[in-house]
Amino acid sequence: MKNLKLAARETEKCTVINVSGVDIGRDFVVIAGPCSVESEKQLLNTAQAVKAAGADMLRGGAFKPRTSPYSFQGLGLQGLKILAKAKKETGLPIVTEVVDPRDVSWVAEFADVLQIGTRNMQNFSLLKEVGKSERPVLLKRGMHSTLEEWLNCAEYILSEGNPDVILCERGIRTFETYTRNTLDLSAVPAIKELSHLPIIIDPTHSTGRVSLIASMSMAAVAVGADGMIVEVHHNPEEALCDADQALTPEKFSNMMQRLRPLKSFLNNLPSAYGKIGLK
Ligand code: PEP
Ligand code: MN
Repeated sequence: MKNLKLAARETEKCTVINVSGVDIGRDFVVIAGPCSVESEKQLLNTAQAVKAAGADMLRGGAFKPRTSPYSFQGLGLQGLKILAKAKKETGLPIVTEVVDPRDVSWVAEFADVLQIGTRNMQNFSLLKEVGKSERPVLLKRGMHSTLEEWLNCAEYILSEGNPDVILCERGIRTFETYTRNTLDLSAVPAIKELSHLPIIIDPTHSTGRVSLIASMSMAAVAVGADGMIVEVHHNPEEALCDADQALTPEKFSNMMQRLRPLKSFLNNLPSAYGKIGLK
């Protein structure tokens, strides 16, 4: 890809990003939590549960880019304060979305990782602003975007001086309607060929179905992803956002138990680029 200067793979070396003690690009990292922060009770309950089940980081949106302007838009600053409390109680670093370039600097005071959602992947002013931030950025793939378009968006962030970009394959729009999107698992080895940046999988927004999430997370490990981001809610029926796709803490814990033996089995196999994602 001729336009890539900083995102392109030049050597076999893979970028490892340290997020408050968690290395992304080395071990398979699990980021879990609700779609949105709804209340202190909801977030703290879920945070404790995902921590107990072995999650490495906590997710939760305080700003929600919703299809309808009448849907819950997130708690904003109040949500960020709740995330900070959950971090204090559990020690889990926080991943949270930023949707407006004007918010980047103060959201970064609460976030360990700034998430750019699929709808904003090509919001170039937002990309430039997170590129100036010192926080790692989780860049979700646009639902209609090619790998080349996606990597060029990573290049926007890198070229502003922020070297810490984590790519996230979250499913693309196809003609299929049974699943919410189509999870492009081939994006993982393809990105590994093209770039040194770590890549994780989102089995939640790609499938939109609780019943498919555990299988796709196993596939994420097997295909060499560096981790995954998954939605968990202490009571999915009451979730204000993405209720149909949230795992209960119990289902999340079962999934984590199924992932462990697969991870250790794959650790002992040689992989294409050194230790990519298979520790
Ligand atoms: C989310 O992570 O809750 C989210 C809105 O994701 P996406 O941008 O992939 O739809
Ligand atoms: Mn969601």
